[in-house]
Amino acid sequence: MLSKFFRPNLILNSVTEITPALLREHGLRFLLLDVDCTLKRYRDTLLPESSLRWIESLQQANIGLCLLSNGKKHRIQQVAEQTALPYVAAAMKPLPFGIRTAISSLGFDKAATGIAGDQIFADILAGRWAKIFTIYVAPIHPEEEHWYTRIKRPLEKRLLPHF
Ligand SMILES: [Mg+2]
Repeated sequence: MLSKFFRPNLILNSVTEITPALLREHGLRFLLLDVDCTLKRYRDTLLPESSLRWIESLQQANIGLCLLSNGKKHRIQQVAEQTALPYVAAAMKPLPFGIRTAISSLGFDKAATGIAGDQIFADILAGRWAKIFTIYVAPIHPEEEHWYTRIKRPLEKRLLPHF
């Protein structure tokens, strides 16, 4: 079945539902994080307090984090500075290269690395391609995104009930 290939390992309503305990349960110590519609609304330049607090809670539990976004560098850099997290911008997800770059440059253990994001055809597909653990989170205000992202949403909606 084709939908099997796009199936995330976990499906959650929000990135903030990812707890250190949940990661540990799945053998994960490192997490790559999508930015737009995962940690913040697309149009916002900075992360909301809720995402900052969540990031802090993972850091306190020694989870290695890295932002991994298809967004342009100048946009993602602002978020990286806000959080003091390393980042890969213009990652070209669903291609797996950004994931590989993040894992190798930060010395993450690939077998203990997951990716969390709101797009099946970018974040999840990239994670599957790179053969790491994938966590789908429902998007925050997806209507604010570019048309080329929004056109993929109806297809995602049709796919999700199969998972
Ligand atoms: Mg996104």
